[in-house]
Amino acid sequence: MAEDKPYFNAEMQKKAIEWIDQKCTADFKCECCQASQWTLNTEIVVPPVYRKGMMIGGAVTPSFLLVCTNCGNSKFFNAVVSRILPAEAKQAEKKEGEDGKNPSQ
Ligand SMILES: [Zn+2]
Repeated sequence: MAEDKPYFNAEMQKKAIEWIDQKCTADFKCECCQASQWTLNTEIVVPPVYRKGMMIGGAVTPSFLLVCTNCGNSKFFNAVVSRILPAEAKQAEKKEGEDGKNPSQ
């Protein structure tokens, strides 16, 4: 079934790993525990935006996570900057989260 296909699919995960290999040093270590074993989380995540005591819709930062397998320290890598998602993905997700209404209705 189509719903069972992961959004962050194998091809995107491969791009994410290539991005890490390209941008991070070969001895990329966890700054907390100094381990160098990382795992790629299998979902694109979007941290909520917090302003003045409210969680609101609006601009989002789709990211993929690299997680230290020893201590769980997690790194957010912007999925648009890393070209895992197209630039318009950020804008489209922003529109969907603004107020839940379709502006053309
Ligand atoms: Zn660690």
